[in-house]
Amino acid sequence: MGKKILVVEDETAIARVLQAYLTKAGYQVETAFDGDEAIRQFTTIQPDLVLLDLMLPGRDGWSILQEIRRRSSCPVIILTALGQTKEKLAGLNRGADDYITKPFNAEEVVARVNAVLRRPPQIWEHAETRQYGSLKIDFAARTVTLHGTELSFIPRDLALLLFLARHPNQAFRREQLIEEVWGLDYEGSDRAVDLAIKRIRKALQNWPKTEGEVKTLRGVGYQFCVYR
Ligand code: CA
Repeated sequence: MGKKILVVEDETAIARVLQAYLTKAGYQVETAFDGDEAIRQFTTIQPDLVLLDLMLPGRDGWSILQEIRRRSSCPVIILTALGQTKEKLAGLNRGADDYITKPFNAEEVVARVNAVLRRPPQIWEHAETRQYGSLKIDFAARTVTLHGTELSFIPRDLALLLFLARHPNQAFRREQLIEEVWGLDYEGSDRAVDLAIKRIRKALQNWPKTEGEVKTLRGVGYQFCVYR
């Protein structure tokens, strides 16, 4: 099964061209023609990438982008006739992964889609949920779901996991983790961190190593690594 792409574009002809090219490139493509439909589709199909037109009837692309970013770090490529640098920078600052100006060449769009999907996941500070392969972390609800099943943790372990997952691919020393996660007045030792990590790893044992892992860095500490 190809990766899922949601094309949000009110001009039917453009949407059809994109759908045809992306389908030919092996993607599963769904389309939405206005803002409300875009959000509905986003929720239902959980796409791997969104191609988003900015000028839409009703709810515009900016507000859709904001809504997507609140919920996930799914890559978004903005598609618009507005070619000014100012618009482009605004899009990138608001959480877009790339930007394509109309009129575009459909083959170039396919190439950009391929390129964005090859990148390591972008981390958006404000996203309330993150998906690392089959592991989904909801920071607002404080839940961790693996292959669709919610995992349970004791509060101290959950706090540690949420902290590490907020800062993927960063190395932390044990003292740093104690201070940042459990607080200065916590009277635990480095050993407490090791034990918590051990329990977290056990809970995440079915998380494929190709997607990510909690790594021990000898002489340093721990790192929550994500590979997709
Ligand atoms: Ca439009």
